[in-house]
Amino acid sequence: MPTYNRADLAFERGEGAWLWTEDGRRFLDFGAGIATTSLGHAHPHLTQVIAEQAGRVMHVSNLYRVPQAERLAARHVAASFADSVFFCNSGAEANEGMVKAVRKYHAENGHPERFHMICFEGAFHGRTLAMLSATGNEKYLAGFGPPVEGFSHVPFGNMNAVRDAIGPATAGIMIEPIQGEGGVRPADLRFLKELRAVCDEYGLLLALDEVQTGMGRSGKLWAHQWAGIEPDVMSSAKGIGGGFPLGAVLAKEHVAKHLKPGTHGTTYGGGPLACAAGNAVLDVVLAPGFLDGVDRVARNLWRGLLGLADRHASVVEGVQGAGLLVGLKLKSAVANADLQAAAVKEGLLTVAAGMNVLRVAPPLIITDAEVAEAIACLDRALAALTPKAA
Ligand SMILES: *Cc1c(COP(=O)(O)O)cnc(C)c1O
Repeated sequence: MPTYNRADLAFERGEGAWLWTEDGRRFLDFGAGIATTSLGHAHPHLTQVIAEQAGRVMHVSNLYRVPQAERLAARHVAASFADSVFFCNSGAEANEGMVKAVRKYHAENGHPERFHMICFEGAFHGRTLAMLSATGNEKYLAGFGPPVEGFSHVPFGNMNAVRDAIGPATAGIMIEPIQGEGGVRPADLRFLKELRAVCDEYGLLLALDEVQTGMGRSGKLWAHQWAGIEPDVMSSAKGIGGGFPLGAVLAKEHVAKHLKPGTHGTTYGGGPLACAAGNAVLDVVLAPGFLDGVDRVARNLWRGLLGLADRHASVVEGVQGAGLLVGLKLKSAVANADLQAAAVKEGLLTVAAGMNVLRVAPPLIITDAEVAEAIACLDRALAALTPKAA
């Protein structure tokens, strides 16, 4: 179906941060399949684990115990705020599960009327019917019938608007710690702390969408850790499978305990193959020193991007985001899509985001030399565009 505007590039193989097209051209991949191939391409450990698991058993369904899922859940619990994990297949599906968990919590506590989520302008939570409503973008909603009830939107970062939106039907607050699709816009750490406090004050659940920000991308395992807060429930996907489809809902016991047999489910979710991949990703990301390395190389990337912002001040407005989820915010004279296309000509892949931001999201295994090369590519791409802006 004509759902995508695809670039005319077909990749035949990859290695680390590099991709090769069928006709032999080489690209530095600073998009990582939209912040998803966290270990880069053809990572030897991830590849080997997937191949071995595929040769043993790929799918059994959730009618049976799945040791790979039990192990992956136990490791996620040990490394996070959560007491319990539900595995699924994508970010939208994880968010659906998260919102269902929030609604169920209030229903089981005698308040089925509390099912409304407060969401934020500029959010992106996925493309299922309910997540279109949580996203709230008119463009995405158009033509798909009435929005699913129970999602309202307030300006990102506006605490007064959040307080004004709370009513007797409010169940929780749903937010990305850094809005990814919306323009790599980070929430103030103080704002996240205030959301935690207001949830506690009104008995609401704090539901974090860390589909894009999680699994080490921010330089910590989960982006909310920068704010020193814990959510009640959180969604994850993208990077947790390293490119293999895997999503997860992580929750505290007071939320998870209500999702009894029959309340929620999936056929594929939490299967042996996906969870073997998830374990292989954790083997790398939780290895001593790995996240410190991400933080270090990210600071190097930021230095480079801030340098570009200085050198191309007529085009670049600023640099925003966290860790290896960085946005180059452009002035209106230059469109992010044009810079993205100019970067492709220089051999660099990036991803456009909302608010005229060019998203830079390399794999977490990126080296300083690759960062330097990406900065040089962007420098040339910006130089190629600058005359138009003048
Ligand atoms: C990508 C994304 C989703 C949707 O994930 P899918 O796997 O495409 O369903 C949801 N929330 C955020 C924050 C995302 O970045």
